[in-house]
Amino acid sequence: MTPSPTLDWLDAAAADRKARHLSRVLRPRTAGEGVIDLASNDYLGLGTHPEVVEGAIAATRRWGAGATGSRLVTGTTTDHQALQAELADFTGHPSALVFSSGYTANLGVVVALSGRGSLIVSDGGSHASLVDACRLSRARVVVVERGDVAAVERALAGRSEERALVVTDSVYSADGDLAPLTALHAACEGYGAVLLVDEAHGLGVRGAGGRGLVDELGLTRHENVVVTATLSKALGAQGGVVLTSERVRDHLVDTARTFIFDTGLAPASVGAARAALAVLRREPQRADRVLEVAEHLAAVTGADRPSSAVVSVILGDAERAYAASQRCAELGLRVGCFRPPSVPEGTARLRLTARADLSDADLSDACGVLTGVLADSRVPA
Ligand code: PMP
Repeated sequence: MTPSPTLDWLDAAAADRKARHLSRVLRPRTAGEGVIDLASNDYLGLGTHPEVVEGAIAATRRWGAGATGSRLVTGTTTDHQALQAELADFTGHPSALVFSSGYTANLGVVVALSGRGSLIVSDGGSHASLVDACRLSRARVVVVERGDVAAVERALAGRSEERALVVTDSVYSADGDLAPLTALHAACEGYGAVLLVDEAHGLGVRGAGGRGLVDELGLTRHENVVVTATLSKALGAQGGVVLTSERVRDHLVDTARTFIFDTGLAPASVGAARAALAVLRREPQRADRVLEVAEHLAAVTGADRPSSAVVSVILGDAERAYAASQRCAELGLRVGCFRPPSVPEGTARLRLTARADLSDADLSDACGVLTGVLADSRVPA
């Protein structure tokens, strides 16, 4: 290909990222590599569960490889409808609407429930998909410090807009700690707002049998709490869902652009998610086990006591965190490495994700590697 001078500015941008140790490497997984994985979001080990894999295969045989169209045209199969009913039933919501990803679910619902002339108050710890949704919404957006309920109340109380939406993750994705949902909901009740909670890291991990933090806190029965989740983490499949009332769901079907203009979720993902949900219902102990493993990893690494599958080991600068993650990889342990802009400057970290299917032997090996690598990586106090 002939390089185009029009794109030469990319070289300077790449050099800048390199100097700041922010270049990324796309490293493919290879099958059967015998690595212990503490980086994936397959928290419950369902992604490779035989019944889940079979669910994907059976749905593909039945419907084909792709959804063939948008949900409103040909992209809704009876399996999509069954999955929606099962997700609603499992989480205790009247209704569910499946999207092609958690990202598109967030974009769709935030834009559909806000818009010009409304206010969105966004928690500072919200996932990038919620941040992007706010930008797309054309609403006035106020971003508050992560978990700052008083700031949310001030923003809601001082608004001139009639409609207001507060958006937050339930389990913060980078640190794994919990948003103050009960207090946020009280603020929303007090000031006539809707609370949108992204349960991407809460579903399958928090709540009885993995029903999520919103269920655990008894917030499901409030119509002004709308929940989103991804099917790609604890459920080991792919896709996203909005869990809500019938009338909010109907509004999304008619107006959510990422629902209307996006090809429906692939049948394989639908089949896999249905099977994963069935396994989780039958084996609710998987949700407890993942927290146990997380606690063990935190104890060994000196991380704060975890509230979810995510254990965040803060190392400070991006170079040190990257070097530590590489050393772990050389020793057969895959860990996540989060650097700016995913996390604030100076808080680069190893991000470990606990897995319910980790054997005691693998957990012990992983802890051995982490102890050694962290002893070399931490700056002495
Ligand atoms: N919300 C949160 C909190 C997430 O962590 C993620 C995935 N990284 C998403 C939404 C997006 O979900 P999906 O990967 O299904 O698009």
